[in-house]
Amino acid sequence: MKYSGWNILKQALTGKKEWAPVWHKPEPKSHYETIVIGGGGHGLATAYYLTTEYGMKNIAVLEKSHLGSGNVGRNTTIIRSNYLLPGNEPFYELSMKLWENLEQTLNYNAMVSQRGVVNLFHSDAQRDSFVRRGNAMCIAGADAVLLDERGIRNLCPFLDYENSRFPIKGGLLQPRGGTVRHDAVAWGYARGSDSLGVDIIENCEVTGFIIKEGRCVGVETARGNISANKIAVCVAGSSGRLMGKAGIRLPIESHVLQAFVSEGLKPILPNVITFGAGHFYISQSDKGGLVFGGDIDGYNTYAQRGNLPIVEDVCAAGVAIMPMIGRSRLLRMWGGLVDMSMDGSPFIDKTRIEGLYFNGGWCYGGFKATPASGFCYAHLLAKDEPHPVAAEFRLDRFKRGHMIDEKGAGAQPNLH
Ligand SMILES: Cc1cc2nc3c(=O)[nH]c(=O)nc-3n(C[C@H](O)[C@H](O)[C@H](O)COP(=O)(O)OP(=O)(O)OC[C@H]3O[C@@H](n4cnc5c(N)ncnc54)[C@H](O)[C@@H]3O)c2cc1C
Repeated sequence: MKYSGWNILKQALTGKKEWAPVWHKPEPKSHYETIVIGGGGHGLATAYYLTTEYGMKNIAVLEKSHLGSGNVGRNTTIIRSNYLLPGNEPFYELSMKLWENLEQTLNYNAMVSQRGVVNLFHSDAQRDSFVRRGNAMCIAGADAVLLDERGIRNLCPFLDYENSRFPIKGGLLQPRGGTVRHDAVAWGYARGSDSLGVDIIENCEVTGFIIKEGRCVGVETARGNISANKIAVCVAGSSGRLMGKAGIRLPIESHVLQAFVSEGLKPILPNVITFGAGHFYISQSDKGGLVFGGDIDGYNTYAQRGNLPIVEDVCAAGVAIMPMIGRSRLLRMWGGLVDMSMDGSPFIDKTRIEGLYFNGGWCYGGFKATPASGFCYAHLLAKDEPHPVAAEFRLDRFKRGHMIDEKGAGAQPNLH
C-alpha cells in the first residue's frame, strides 16, 4: 500500500479498514540464496539493497527478537558525515546522500531532519584540528562551516559562554547533519524489503553455523536448520559472541552505551550540539524531549543496561554547557550493546570461511551509517568484492598496519 496524503484522507473517511501490516510474518524456508543475520537497521538495509540494486532474490533476514529491539531502536538518532580520514569520509558522505532521499526511496516517513550538527571547540588547538576536519570534509564533497564564538552565540544563545573552565571559542557546523527517527528506519527498510519478497523472520535466533569443508552452507536457528549459499552476519553488539560460534575471533569488544530523554519541553534546541571538552551530545525530539548521551560505560559486557557513574558523568557534561537543563527532569534512559573495534572504525568484509560475510564494529556511531552500510554490504555480497567507498573496512587491516583511527587513540576500544 502506497503511503500518501491522499491515502491518509481516504482511510480517515472510510474507517481506516485498508491499512495493512507493514511486513508479513512468514515461516522460515529450508533454503535461501542469502541469509542476513540480524534485523537491525544494517541487516534490513542490506536485504533491501540486495533486491533493489543487485536484483537478488530468495533472501531472508533472521532476527532473534523483534525488529528494532537492538541499537537501531536505542540510539540517539544523530546523523552526520563529519569525518577526517579518507577511509571513512567518502563512506559517511554516501550515507548522508542516501539519507537525503531515503523517505522518497522507501515511501516511508523516517522524519529525516537536517537541522545541523555543531561540534563545539574550547581551545585554539581544538579549533585547528576542527579546521583540518572541515577541510577534509569539503574535499570529500561534504559541507562544513567554521563558526567563531559570535557565530555560535547567534546560533545557540542558550549555551553557557561565561564558563571559564570550558570557554566556548566556536564550533564546526555541518548544516546537512541532523536527526532521523531511529525505529522508523528499521520499519521503513523492513516494509521496503518485505514488499520485494524478502522473508523477515522474527524470534529466530541463530545459534550456530553449518560449516562443511571450509565453507559455510547454513545456520542453526531456534526454528531449525536453514541452508543458504551466502550468510551475512550483521548483529552489531553481538558480533563477537556470534562469530565465535564460527571459530572467528574479532578485533571487537562489546560495551554498553546509555541514552537519556528528558520530559517534553517547548522547542529550545534548534540543532544537534556536541560538547568538545567532554563527551556529551544533545538534540530535541519532535515530541519535545531532550535526547542526549555521552561515553560508553567502559567495561566489557553483553548486558543492555548501564550503570550510575555514567549518568552522573553525562549530566555533569550537559550542565557544563547548558546549565538550564539542570532544571528539567529525566524521563527515560536505557542501554544498548555497542561493538567497539580496536581503531573505532567498522568492518564490511568476507571472512576466511567461504560463504560467510561480516558487517560490524560500528561502535556508537553506526546509525548514521545505516543506508551506506546496507548499500556496501549488498555490493560485497552480490559481487564478492568491496564497494569502493568501503574498501578500507577490511578485517585484516591491523595485520597490514592500515588502521583507520579517527581519534588517534590507538588499540583501545574503550577510548574511541
Ligand atoms: C545508546 C546508543 C546511542 C547511539 N547513538 C547513535 C547516534 O546518535 N548516531 C549514530 O550514528 N549511532 C548511534 N549509535 C550506534 C548505532 O545505534 C549502532 O551502531 C547501529 O544501530 C548498529 O547497527 P544495527 O542497527 O544493525 O544494530 P542492531 O539494531 O543492534 O541490530 C542487530 C540485530 O541483531 C540481532 N541479533 C543479535 N544476535 C543475533 C543472533 N544470534 N541471531 C539473530 N539475530 C541476532 C539483534 O537482536 C539486533 O536486532 C548509538 C548506539 C547506542 C546503544
